[in-house]
Amino acid sequence: MKISQLGEFGLIDVLKKFSPVTKEVIKGIGDDAAVLPFSKTEYLLFTTDMLAQDVHFTLGMSAQAIGHKALACSISDIAAMGGRPTFAVISIGIPKDLPVRFITELYQGIKLTAKTFDVSIVGGDTIKADKLVINIALLGQVEKKYLTLRDGAKPGDWIFVTGPLGGSFKSGRHLNFTPRVAQARFLVENFTPNAMMDLSDGLAGDLGHILKESRAGARLDYAAIPRNKGASLEQALNDGEDFELLCTLSPKTARSLMEWQEKRKAFYFYPIGVITKDVKEKINSKSFTHF
Ligand code: ADP
Ligand code: MG
Repeated sequence: MKISQLGEFGLIDVLKKFSPVTKEVIKGIGDDAAVLPFSKTEYLLFTTDMLAQDVHFTLGMSAQAIGHKALACSISDIAAMGGRPTFAVISIGIPKDLPVRFITELYQGIKLTAKTFDVSIVGGDTIKADKLVINIALLGQVEKKYLTLRDGAKPGDWIFVTGPLGGSFKSGRHLNFTPRVAQARFLVENFTPNAMMDLSDGLAGDLGHILKESRAGARLDYAAIPRNKGASLEQALNDGEDFELLCTLSPKTARSLMEWQEKRKAFYFYPIGVITKDVKEKINSKSFTHF
């Protein structure tokens, strides 16, 4: 069988069988970041993301924006766990003819984003490659009481997203997005979400991960899904790389969040549907109905 027939998630399921874990591992493969022991009150978070030339970017794009994105993807995963990013290592594979300037600009992008989010760059690896590849591994920390996984959604929970979706590639937003650390920290500190993840593969598929992990279904109000200018519902459901947060809150906390945000406009969390008991209402976006 070819990799293309298996698909990304089919392959990850296979790889999981070859990925041993000790009893210490609190959450391994299957969430936005791994959750590991750290201290009495906090967990260590660990995530990694890779970008490749001609798959995720081309050399015609802004090197600084590519650097930003390479780090911001991982910061977004740490945010999705309710945590704060801390330390990163960066590995790059560089074609021998690439101008040095491209790499310094790439690193300028990484540096600005690292400073904005208090991330220290503490190492990496450099090799020769046919095309430019960049991989960032990032650690983070989260208070045990604030850890938010994908598997905690409960029937009746309201589903929220942190911003408009769709058309991220066409608009270039996939390179310039802001990881939602502030929104995630605000939520975990004040409203205790039951489940959370970041939207990297598109709402329909990503919500499917929460539903699968939580053994639940969902009904979406398509009209309530916030869309970027020019994006269709189809695009808002299926385009990837929005890097907004997707989270679920109990009806009670959801209502107090709605009350809070009527008065204060610091962030806006858009209610887009509810979690249901019926697992048949899951994964395929076509099976979601209005609530
Ligand atoms: P995200 O989009 O949040 O970065 P992914 O969809 O890339 O997450 O990955 C889903 C899960 O699979 C994560 O827990 C990730 O760590 C794991 N994973 C992805 N690729 C591999 C791999 N090659 N080996 C082991 N685990 C992997
Ligand atoms: Mg993620």
